[in-house]
Amino acid sequence: MTAPQTGITNSPFIGLKGFHVAKLIDDPKDGTPTYEDIISIPHIRQVSIKPQNSSATLYADNQAVDTASTTSEYELTVDIATLPLEYKAYLLGHELKDGVMTASKDDVSPYFAVMFESTKKNGKKRFCKFLKVQFNEPDENPQTKAENISYSLYGTPMESVTYKFAQCLQRRFGVIPHVTDRNYITNSYHVHVTEPIDAFKKLGFEAEFQALSPGGAISYVEVSNLQNNIPAVLAIMRYIYDHIMYAELNTKSDYCQACGYDGEIKIVEDDGKLVWECPNCGNRDERSMNICRRVCGYLGVNGFNQGRTAEISDRVLHDTGACF
Ligand SMILES: [Zn+2]
Repeated sequence: MTAPQTGITNSPFIGLKGFHVAKLIDDPKDGTPTYEDIISIPHIRQVSIKPQNSSATLYADNQAVDTASTTSEYELTVDIATLPLEYKAYLLGHELKDGVMTASKDDVSPYFAVMFESTKKNGKKRFCKFLKVQFNEPDENPQTKAENISYSLYGTPMESVTYKFAQCLQRRFGVIPHVTDRNYITNSYHVHVTEPIDAFKKLGFEAEFQALSPGGAISYVEVSNLQNNIPAVLAIMRYIYDHIMYAELNTKSDYCQACGYDGEIKIVEDDGKLVWECPNCGNRDERSMNICRRVCGYLGVNGFNQGRTAEISDRVLHDTGACF
C-alpha cells in the first residue's frame, strides 16, 4: 500500500512549543462549535501524529491544519510523563481534590481543540491545529514500541572483558566483599569458579541457562588428568549429550620449553602480580612456555590478562566428588 500523501509524516514533531488546548463545550451538527478559553499546557515535548486514513491532504507548511473533516482521523500521541497532575486531570476528565487525582470509571475524557507549534528537521516551523481531540488514559505500564529487530541472548564468556569490567565496577562501586572484590567477572551464568560443585551438578544447573541463551553458550567443567579414568570422561560426555546444548571438559596440557615438563604450569604471585611458573624447573619466562586454557568457547594460549589469570588460578576441580 502506498503511503498516503498527507504531508503529515508519521515521525514525531520535534522542537515542540506552545501546546494549547481549548475544551469543546458544544459541537452542534450543523452549527459552529464553541470552546472554553484556550489554556497553555506545559512540559509537553513530543507529539506524534499518525493519519488513520489514506485520503487526507490536510497539511501545508506554515498553515494551520484543520482536521475537523469527518472523513479524517488522526492518532495523536502526546508524551505527558512530566505533565503536572492538574493538567492530567483536566485533559482526562478526572477529579482533582487537594492535590489528589481521582479517576472514576464513569469519567469521560472531554473533547479539546489542540494547537501547537513545532520545528521540522529542516528548520521550518509548522503550526498544527486539531479541532476535536480526545485524550486517552496513559498506559499504566508504559512500554516502548515493539521492536522491529531480531535479537537473541548470548551467554557471554567475557574473554578479556572479565578484567576490564571488574576494574570499572571497582572504580564505580568500590570493593564490596563477594561482589566486586575480585579482578574478574564470572562468565555469564556460570557457577562461580571457586564454588565446590561436582561436574554433573554444575552442568545440570548451567543447562537451564543455556536453554535461555539461544544466541550462543558454553559450559565447562575443570577436570584433573583423566587419561587413566576413561569411564569418568565417558560419563561426563554422556551427561552433556543428554542434558546440555554445549559443554567441554577442561584439562591442562602445558609445556615448558626450558625443561620439557608436560603437565600443568602453575600460577604464583610475584610482588603482587600473577605469573606462571614451571613446577619442575621454576621457569617463569612465559615466552618459553606453552600454556593453554579455555577462556571461552575457544582455548587460549599464553598472554592472559591479570584478571583472567586470577580467574584461572581460582578455578576448582569438578571431578573430585564421590562420582569419580
Ligand atoms: Zn620447566
